[in-house]
Amino acid sequence: MGVRAAFAATAAAGLAFYLWQRRQRRRYLGESREYTETAIASALRRVPAREAPPADATCYVCLDGAERAPLHRDCACRGSSGWAHVECLADAGKANVDNAFLCGMCRSLFQGAVQLRLARALWRAKAGEGRGARLATSMVAGALLQHGETAEALRLMERLAREPTGDAVEGFRVDLQLATAHDEHGDPRRAEALLRSLVGRATAELGAEHPMTLTASATMGAVLNRLGDDAEAAVVIRSTLGAAQHVFPANDPFILFVETTLAHVHENEGRDADAVALYERIIAAQSRKLGPSHPAVSVLTTNMAAALAKIDGRRGDAERLLRGACHQLAAACGPEHPDALYARSKLAWCETHGWDPAELRRNVDWR
Ligand SMILES: [Zn+2]
Ligand SMILES: [Zn+2]
Repeated sequence: MGVRAAFAATAAAGLAFYLWQRRQRRRYLGESREYTETAIASALRRVPAREAPPADATCYVCLDGAERAPLHRDCACRGSSGWAHVECLADAGKANVDNAFLCGMCRSLFQGAVQLRLARALWRAKAGEGRGARLATSMVAGALLQHGETAEALRLMERLAREPTGDAVEGFRVDLQLATAHDEHGDPRRAEALLRSLVGRATAELGAEHPMTLTASATMGAVLNRLGDDAEAAVVIRSTLGAAQHVFPANDPFILFVETTLAHVHENEGRDADAVALYERIIAAQSRKLGPSHPAVSVLTTNMAAALAKIDGRRGDAERLLRGACHQLAAACGPEHPDALYARSKLAWCETHGWDPAELRRNVDWR
């Protein structure tokens, strides 16, 4: 074969390979988007219907009513405040992706169907836009994680983790969410390994008191706690809380998150009364912020009731709180939501041990 013929053959093979790659990539992206749409639709089907807007409700972004599109609300707003079109929230979110999930009225995070629909709208709008697309994908993954679609959330995060970001903090945030996805998808050991490496790198590059470092070590403490590595979990949580108290105000959501894990540590150490006192403080702060019937408050109440059940003479209070939380979570999230199942499993655990405090103390259940 002459030089020209060899060149032509190589070029043809190169072109064929390029076209094949492009086809594969398109097929993969197409499939991936389809899977994600399916997962979002499946999560939305499990979110129960919320209160309907009053007839005169208007969107807080565009000030129009429900004629053009339905009005939604799922945040801490009460009364006539906080109703909006998802399209309007998405338009505002496109301009300011970092704050897209904060309600413009009450500044709390969107939950439930609003969170899922808004994540989907931003993800569709931001496709192919570099950092915007990455952020929108991680928002969708976060919303899917929160609504029990862990397999698709994990797949999205694994793909994001393979993409270079060029920004250290953003890379750390992707690793943190990937670790959370592994944990939620039933592989806490994998999460632990990722978190150990992340805490080391974030401490070296950003410092021990950077919010990213603190969030990674708090998450590692929670995972260790769930894995039953009680002694190390206690050390990690206490030191993270100590550092966080220099950086965040007392009722900051981050402090409340670390304190929640500290309450589990207290229980593992047999200090149930300390755990209950801590839960009471956290629940009071969260109820003021999110409202008393918010799912996050009901999950905390579930945990407090299980700790209370281990204290002699408190069975009545524990049972009343736990049944209330089960009822509340089934109504707010749907009876098959992971949080509703979690509360029911705590109730079943108390019933299995006959609500006997000594029996419950011998069988602490944090896993
Ligand atoms: Zn609107
Ligand atoms: Zn609101």
